[in-house]
Amino acid sequence: MKQNILKAMETGELQAFYQPQYDAISGKIVSAEALVRWITSDNKIIPPDKFIPDAETKGYVTEIDWYMTEQVCQMLATQKQNHEKQFPIAINFSRYHIQESDFTEKLCAIADKYAIPHALLEVEITESAMVNEEAKILNWLNSVRNAGFTIAIDDFGSGLSSLQFVKDMPADILKIDKSLLSHNCENEKERVVLESIFYFANRLHMITIAEGVETKEQLQFLRTCDCKKIQGYLFAKPMSKSDYLAICKNSQSVENTEDILNMQTPASAMNLLMRVLFQKYPLVIFSNLTRNSYYMMAYEDFTATSCPSTGIFEELIIHGASSMHPDDQQIFAQTFNRKNLLKAYANGESKIRLITRQLGDDGQYRPVETTDYFIKTSSSDDVLVITLCENLPLEN
Ligand code: C2E
Ligand code: MG
Ligand code: MG
Repeated sequence: MKQNILKAMETGELQAFYQPQYDAISGKIVSAEALVRWITSDNKIIPPDKFIPDAETKGYVTEIDWYMTEQVCQMLATQKQNHEKQFPIAINFSRYHIQESDFTEKLCAIADKYAIPHALLEVEITESAMVNEEAKILNWLNSVRNAGFTIAIDDFGSGLSSLQFVKDMPADILKIDKSLLSHNCENEKERVVLESIFYFANRLHMITIAEGVETKEQLQFLRTCDCKKIQGYLFAKPMSKSDYLAICKNSQSVENTEDILNMQTPASAMNLLMRVLFQKYPLVIFSNLTRNSYYMMAYEDFTATSCPSTGIFEELIIHGASSMHPDDQQIFAQTFNRKNLLKAYANGESKIRLITRQLGDDGQYRPVETTDYFIKTSSSDDVLVITLCENLPLEN
């Protein structure tokens, strides 16, 4: 088999097919994955699972992957020559590349030969294939990423997937395996598992891709999970280079896109709302006055670098006061004292507002408006407060 495959590389029978990946909301093509195919002289298409396992055991799979990398760069160069839009391409790299000490140099050399910006190439690795070699992989991936390439973890949720691996690896993209999606995504347990995976991946700022999406029902559900990209037969199967080039040329939406608001899902609507909220209020705190606790949501890094995001409310106020101008510390501590707030709530107040000068990371004091809104929920007797902090313009 090895000789046949090596020959197929020379004759061009081994080809890169491309499966487009689409933005989950707009339905527009945003990237693609290169998948190897062996097209025999009698025009039979042999899929990778018929020869990749042999290539792995006999050790020539790395040659296939480098061949694919070259094919992908040639395709991207063609797009450039024709002044067509280019999209990032994911290439599958087998775990055997860990042994290649010059992996990053090789990848750079091929990309640079065709003048391909490194950001257009994604290195896709399958995490379940890599258990027990964490330190080695970490070095490998760091060097790839430092050279400007993107890292994707493939097949997450299949086999031996480990959360620890995702947590520790410097990966940009998480591909959720098709085995997690049933036909309609209607099973409650399955939905909970998927929602949790997308939640943690989004919290880790990873781009999520659902693989093997075949039905509209799956797509609808994935949108509610805030899944970013869709790859699957519903939109497009893997296709030849010429078909892919044609698709990129008139990269229209695969769906007759409805009104964006109609297909807006609770999770993504919530995201939009939070984005707007954070434009005005870089710091939002949820507190339970009755239980003396808080939970803080800070946009990017704000100023709260030394304050934990959850903890004891009274300690939060001590911390807050210490970040204020010395002349404002007392009034801040008095106003937002827990007992004082509970008293104000009991007196029927709906909000408490105060402007103080707060020290920024640059050593300058800035006016900050802090507003506490009292909230009552039907599910509990606890007194809750939502705090919105707004940076005011600097006084001249
Ligand atoms: P993968 O990297 O997880 O690729 C996704 C596979 O799912 C592809 O199978 C693709 O055709 C298939 N797929 C995509 N959408 C759907 C769908 O809606 N429904 C279903 N049932 N399947 C869908 P393919 O091309 O047969 O590749 C199988 C595996 O072979 C790949 O899985 C990858 O692990 C490996 N492979 C493919 N090309 C290469 C390569 O160039 N190098 C290496 N090392 N491995 C490769
Ligand atoms: Mg893949
Ligand atoms: Mg996969």
